[in-house]
Amino acid sequence: MNEYGKVLEDVDLKKYNTYGIGGHAKYLISPDSLKHLQALIKYLNSENISWYLLGGGSNVILPDADFAGAIIKLDQLNDIKINKDTIIAEAGITLANFVNCLLDEGYTNYAALMGIPGTLGGAIVGNAGAYNVAIFDNLISVTVMDELGNVNEYNKENIQYDYRMTEFKGRRNIIVAAKFEGIKGDVAKACEQIKENLQKRQKTQPLEYKNAGSVFKNPAVASAGYLIEHTGLKNLTIGGAKVSEKHANFIINYNNATSRDIIELITVIKKEVQKKQKVKLELEQIIVTW
Ligand SMILES: Cc1cc2nc3c(=O)[nH]c(=O)nc-3n(C[C@H](O)[C@H](O)[C@H](O)COP(=O)(O)OP(=O)(O)OC[C@H]3O[C@@H](n4cnc5c(N)ncnc54)[C@H](O)[C@@H]3O)c2cc1C
Repeated sequence: MNEYGKVLEDVDLKKYNTYGIGGHAKYLISPDSLKHLQALIKYLNSENISWYLLGGGSNVILPDADFAGAIIKLDQLNDIKINKDTIIAEAGITLANFVNCLLDEGYTNYAALMGIPGTLGGAIVGNAGAYNVAIFDNLISVTVMDELGNVNEYNKENIQYDYRMTEFKGRRNIIVAAKFEGIKGDVAKACEQIKENLQKRQKTQPLEYKNAGSVFKNPAVASAGYLIEHTGLKNLTIGGAKVSEKHANFIINYNNATSRDIIELITVIKKEVQKKQKVKLELEQIIVTW
């Protein structure tokens, strides 16, 4: 498979997700072009080798079990082109680089997303957002490779999306690129705001521990963190997984947590919040199964 890009074998997946959990994967492949990604998908399908697309691993709960297939990462597909207020970026670019490239050209409309880890592709899948800005806000279209390797471009009007969800979530489609509108603004002011936002994150989120961001979506009635805290669940620990003291909607890998610890903790939180607050929490993170 070396002809398609960089191939690693027997890879410890703990290094490839922000929870620091998971087993080993037989292969981890980073295709070096769209054409090679397409050829790789066709090859894996023809050989009956299962595959899973991983971005920055900052929104997933990977299984403890080893994966006998191939993890595909798009880190070599990270090009970005900006031309007259139109931005075309490949999905493997990190969200931080995407925001920085836009700022370099005077576009401030995605500055609020600085601080969200992961890739542009992962951000599109979950319609990531912060401080009242979401990645779909100025999105024009998404280029998608289906599980057979066919590539199509979809305009935003034809894509279903909502708060922290899109129709791509849970599907075996690969987002390869996206087009956006850039909106110019005061870059110095935007950078000042980014600094403030990052300080706020540092103060309110348990960034000193491995975690994967907000565990649950915020229900309409109150924030998930508020509901979990007022159910008395802060510091609740199962195995090595713990509800953060700093922010109750974060589960931290406190002490060599397993995927199973985290999922059990999620189950208990959901049950207790439903019982005491009469609110059904909906998971924002993605439980992956091989
Ligand atoms: C400290 C911290 C803070 C966070 N803050 C925020 C926040 O403020 N707002 C927010 O919205 N999120 C936040 N998150 C969650 C997370 O960073 C985002 O959801 C991020 O956009 C996920 O991107 P990723 O590349 O890491 O995706 P991954 O976790 O790698 O993948 C998520 C899902 O998308 C799929 N996927 C990834 N790339 C592609 C692709 N190219 N094509 C098809 N499918 C793909 C994967 O298969 C998986 O199902 C935070 C996480 C952490 C750890």
